[in-house]
Amino acid sequence: MKPDVSLSKIGMVAHTPDILNLAPRFTEHDAVRLNNMFRGSTTQEMLEGVIRDRLAGDLAVVSSFGAESAVLLHLVAGVDPSVPVLFLDTGKHFAETLAYRDLLVERLGLNLVVLTPDAEELAKRDESGLRWSYDPDGCCEIRKVRPLEKALSQYDASFTGRKAFQAKTRANLPRFEIDTTDSAGRLKINPLIDWDAAAIDAWFAEHDLPRHPLIAQGYPSIGCSPCTSQVAPGEDPRSGRWKGWDKTECGIHKPGEEPFL
Ligand code: SF4
Repeated sequence: MKPDVSLSKIGMVAHTPDILNLAPRFTEHDAVRLNNMFRGSTTQEMLEGVIRDRLAGDLAVVSSFGAESAVLLHLVAGVDPSVPVLFLDTGKHFAETLAYRDLLVERLGLNLVVLTPDAEELAKRDESGLRWSYDPDGCCEIRKVRPLEKALSQYDASFTGRKAFQAKTRANLPRFEIDTTDSAGRLKINPLIDWDAAAIDAWFAEHDLPRHPLIAQGYPSIGCSPCTSQVAPGEDPRSGRWKGWDKTECGIHKPGEEPFL
């Protein structure tokens, strides 16, 4: 295990779990201390502390390059563009999403890391490429959940783009929390949790950030193309995801937490 000097200074140590001793990297207590430390700080001040001072160890951003992704990517790149940006290339994205991803990578100088499904598993479990049509949970597991789990095992913390206004289940989310999708004790960091829709729009305008091209075509929430439908004005933006299925998330996060990846 390799202690991080900055963390030691504030009484916390990020651990890389080893095979014999699977001690979690961070505990609930660490998350509380970080929340207290940055209470009253701006998003930029918090990002600078976390990224520059390595308060959360090795970091990555997980991004779908969806409707609002540009704001978090712009903020993180403003502090350090070398922070890895993990993108799950499911093989089912809209061509517009891939083009938008490339545009943002170029414009913001992002350190893009493309994650792909395991080729053997794909051939075995989704040879036709149509698993999404009869078993979307299984399709998400092969194309999203497993590749991301594997990639995240190399990091101590990941940034999400979650905002409190998006859902009741997010209303009380803190900036720092323990990622409960496994027992590794990684931190999940929500830099935009207290941003509202107007602040997001203002950031796009102020920094002249490009919008995802599909928003103008009636897609307020954008995921894989077979599982994303247009939404009528006034409808819940999420209603266009996995339309017709009793499914609101891809399995990477707990239900109600992050349905948009
Ligand atoms: S969102 Fe749809 S196409 Fe994409 S991985 Fe999940 S089920 Fe498959």
